[in-house]
Amino acid sequence: ELKQIAIYGKGGIGKSTTTSNISAALAEAGYRVMQFGCDPKSDSTNTLRGGTYIPSVLDLLRANARVDAHEAIFEGFGGIYCVEAGGPAPGVGCAGRGIITAVELLNQQNVFEELDLDYVVFDVLGDVVCGGFAVPIREGIAQHVFTVSSSDFMAIYAANNLFKGIQKYSNAGGALLGGVIANSINTDFQRQIIDDFVARTETQIVQYVPRSLTVTQSELQGKTTIEAAPTSEQADIYRTLAQRIVAHTESKVPTPLDPQELRDWSASWADTLIAQEKVAYHPHALV
Ligand code: ADP
Ligand code: SF4
Ligand code: MG
Repeated sequence: ELKQIAIYGKGGIGKSTTTSNISAALAEAGYRVMQFGCDPKSDSTNTLRGGTYIPSVLDLLRANARVDAHEAIFEGFGGIYCVEAGGPAPGVGCAGRGIITAVELLNQQNVFEELDLDYVVFDVLGDVVCGGFAVPIREGIAQHVFTVSSSDFMAIYAANNLFKGIQKYSNAGGALLGGVIANSINTDFQRQIIDDFVARTETQIVQYVPRSLTVTQSELQGKTTIEAAPTSEQADIYRTLAQRIVAHTESKVPTPLDPQELRDWSASWADTLIAQEKVAYHPHALV
């Protein structure tokens, strides 16, 4: 049965890298996978296709009166079907039209059934600047939502906003939260921060993913780590992540922090960090 997953997160946080490695790991495990990028950058599937761009659904619709959905689907690593919804011109919000139009085109032409897919993985820009970021949640395009976040405040801020969107539409059949993929977690301190955030918002960490040079090297080759460095530790981390998503069945409504709670929460971590650094480095007092 088809499982639809949406991966959200702030711009630049590692959504496309993580999503492409999940897709590659799923394909490697024998699943039939489609990766569906929803970001005006239209680069979600690049590392599944040797670093190259594909035309987006919106580009095709702008250039042609009628579009055969198959023209928007390109095969990538491991037979993964790659689609980019595309977005508006830079600086112009599309308020969710991109993903709705693209999903409708594929639905109308029965592409999801025809390809007999096991997984559709949506890679969605979940930033506040992206007016339509709630659309896949509200419309129930995905069943389970995961968010990629580091321990940085802006990433957590974006994740918390996503949680608000999920909470808002949860009574109306919207998608629920599977958990947080903790990216770029290399120190105990980063781990403590993200652990505390998921505890406070009553969700869970699906997998900790370290920042790794292997990922950088793979990206420079236009490949996922699964493809470029299949025997690396990092590839195994992505495989475990993919298996946890396969095993995942019960998503939940998170409990986002309100603005004041978020401020107090980050301030308390600032104090903890200062205290820990004093212990670790004995810095000279500035005043
Ligand atoms: P997004 O899709 O969220 O905008 P990307 O997946 O394009 O972000 O990642 C942004 C940059 O960060 C890329 O250059 C990518 O290679 C790098 N990156 C992401 N995750 C990792 C990681 N775990 N280790 C090393 N580099 C990473
Ligand atoms: Fe994609 Fe929605 Fe952003 Fe448009 S507004 S690019 S459809 S996430
Ligand atoms: Mg991306």
